[in-house]
Amino acid sequence: MTKNIQTPATETMQPARRHFLSTVAVSAALIPLASLGLARMANAADLPHLSPTDPTAVALSYVEDAATTKNTAFQAGSACDGCALYQGDRKAAWGPCAVFPGKDVAAKGWCTSFVKMS
Ligand code: SF4
Repeated sequence: MTKNIQTPATETMQPARRHFLSTVAVSAALIPLASLGLARMANAADLPHLSPTDPTAVALSYVEDAATTKNTAFQAGSACDGCALYQGDRKAAWGPCAVFPGKDVAAKGWCTSFVKMS
């Protein structure tokens, strides 16, 4: 008698697909926290700047200057100050982001969670 053993889906995924799905999972997990208003509790001037070496920032390929990213998902003209998840003053250099509660991101930054403002 032979058994039909199935391999978990994550073991057969391509690395890029696995990275994409983990990025989406991290973003999806963090956005509800931010929607509770945690990111807005502190004045933007009080928040520390997000470090590009922060583990979540690394997972989402965050850069302080969008022009420097080599991520293939980047589209010219995209930056935090044009992202729907950016919560700061669009004219300020830094502001809160729904994906990184408690931190300010660079208005000219970018990450793979970028959502173009409609
Ligand atoms: S691109 Fe959007 S989600 Fe990513 S850090 Fe900037 S404001 Fe936040």
